[in-house]
Amino acid sequence: LVLACSSHEASPISEDTHIKGVSEIIVGVLGGGQLGRMLCQAASQMAIKVMILDPSKNCSASSLAYGHMVDSFDDSATVEEFAKRCGVLTVEIEHVDVETLEKLEKQGVDVQPKASTIRIIQDKYIQKVHFSRHGIPLPEFMEISDIEGAERAGELFGYPLMIKSKRLAYDGRGNAVANSQDALTSAVTALGGFSRGLYVEKWAPFVKELAVIVARGRDGSMVCYPVVETVHRDNICHIVKAPADVPWKINKLATDVAQKAVGSLEGAGVFAVELFLTDDGQILLNEVAPRPHNSGHQTIESCYTSQFEQHLRAVVGLPLGDPSMRTPASIMYNILGEDDGEAGFRLAHRLIARALSVPGASVHWYDKPEMRKQRKMGHITLVGQSIGVLEQRLQCILSEQTHQVH
Ligand code: ATP
Ligand code: MG
Ligand code: MG
Repeated sequence: LVLACSSHEASPISEDTHIKGVSEIIVGVLGGGQLGRMLCQAASQMAIKVMILDPSKNCSASSLAYGHMVDSFDDSATVEEFAKRCGVLTVEIEHVDVETLEKLEKQGVDVQPKASTIRIIQDKYIQKVHFSRHGIPLPEFMEISDIEGAERAGELFGYPLMIKSKRLAYDGRGNAVANSQDALTSAVTALGGFSRGLYVEKWAPFVKELAVIVARGRDGSMVCYPVVETVHRDNICHIVKAPADVPWKINKLATDVAQKAVGSLEGAGVFAVELFLTDDGQILLNEVAPRPHNSGHQTIESCYTSQFEQHLRAVVGLPLGDPSMRTPASIMYNILGEDDGEAGFRLAHRLIARALSVPGASVHWYDKPEMRKQRKMGHITLVGQSIGVLEQRLQCILSEQTHQVH
């Protein structure tokens, strides 16, 4: 089923793509969640056509996309059929059918970033092996396939010990912490057992979590966004502060590590690099996303070129935009479902109503058909003169009383 899509043929990307030719190109996006939705929003400004492939008829991106093929991005025949309609393929989620993308690439289909990148990233263990081979600093890690292996890892790395699923992980679903040897079995069980493919990471005693978005154009040019601080709650991104409050040297180190990590991967697009800052001033890589990312949502209001526009520029072959901030500070707050169903909607709407009365606050609502606890339903971005002022404004939004803030 293809919704709302004209019948004209897909144009390929040529070496001299320019803005006039851009409206002829259809960018195919595997996945139609909030990232796909915000890609569609950025695309409309430059008349780029975005077609999405997502099994849900009511997915977030559907109402804004140029076309929506309602089907699975994990099914070979479907992805092949979808590719025929697009000039270039990209992703908003890395858990896609990578074998098919590799096959399509061999047939000359344009996939950005490259399928090789998605293959490395979609398995977190393979990702860790790849980055350690490229000399990127990481928490120590090892594969485990039975309880004896987990115990050996515990003896080697100590506790707490982070156990992770290799595949299909997001929002911390796929992570379990064992605080002692006795807790190993229950942590493994919580992750669905060893057959799912597990590995362990040494606990990273971080003082802050940082993230850097790196963009690479089709010509290999690279730009980095300012380093941000991410704050997670229950393993889910909760707040992002930009710029991060870290010394100049840390800023430089984080940017260098991020750029080096992305330099080891192939293809065009934006890449988000999640990092740990330890108390002794080390930067360790946590993971990389080969696509726009939650740590970059504030770029819509706070940077000259948002991560979404940048991703489209990169995959389509336009010059990359300026990633620097156009506001002194910004804070992004994720609106997570606090309850299932109607009760959750009521709470979220009260929060949004308060945000709408605060200067410098922008509300993004993803229009997901179902409200679920801990689900990312929208976000609020605050921009202003300093992080301190924005933290106060965020507190006003989060407090139950309605304030008029000036
Ligand atoms: P995402 O939604 O970012 O894709 P994910 O499910 O892939 O999340 P991770 O990024 O691996 O999960 O971990 C989520 C959070 O758990 C991290 O942001 C960090 O707060 C914590 N965490 C992960 N690995 C470690 C570690 N080795 N030591 C300490 N904390 C960790
Ligand atoms: Mg992840
Ligand atoms: Mg993560």
